[in-house]
Amino acid sequence: MSHTLNSLNSQSSADATFTININSIKINQTIDIVGDHLQNPWILSILNEINDLEASSADASSSSPSLRVELSLSKHFGRDSEISGIPEYFIVQGNAEINYWSSCIRCLDPVSRQLYIDINACFVHQQLQNKPEYQEETIAFIENQERELYFINDNLIDIKEFLHEQIRLSIDDFPLHSDECKGLCQVCGENLNHKCCSHHQANHHQTTVGPEVS
Ligand SMILES: [Zn+2]
Ligand SMILES: [Zn+2]
Repeated sequence: MSHTLNSLNSQSSADATFTININSIKINQTIDIVGDHLQNPWILSILNEINDLEASSADASSSSPSLRVELSLSKHFGRDSEISGIPEYFIVQGNAEINYWSSCIRCLDPVSRQLYIDINACFVHQQLQNKPEYQEETIAFIENQERELYFINDNLIDIKEFLHEQIRLSIDDFPLHSDECKGLCQVCGENLNHKCCSHHQANHHQTTVGPEVS
């Protein structure tokens, strides 16, 4: 009851998308969504949005950015489930592994990051969004597990948008290349990890400048 969407259509541009029409899936059917940035333009497009291109090209010896995705999407009929009213729901679970580059927030040096993300979500029909019991919900308890709650728009599950959000929520918004990073001199812009400038030789906390001594 399972088939793999391994070779998806080869859109090449940044606006490559990947959506699944819920009516194309049978109850209890499972679809495997397995791929990476090399095979799948929509995965490459997510990677390009997360990865800081300038940072990754600044260090040629670095590991190259990558994104690998392993998801399964299954359709269920929830007569016995906790979802009231609309019986159909869709479970998306699996993992993603991303290698990407960003810039240290203090010194702007490239920072290489690796992230493994567990994914466990449930998509329910859009109409449920208006029900009071769903209005504030972001987590649903379905099939004995807590799953992140998502809503289906126009019979489509937007896998790309979903995955992009999952990764965005997991990445470090304030990366430091090291906890000890000394940052840049606020006066002359010197990277203080590599060099000491005249503004920092006498007093590390000095922020105002006297006459320049050379
Ligand atoms: Zn730094
Ligand atoms: Zn300085």
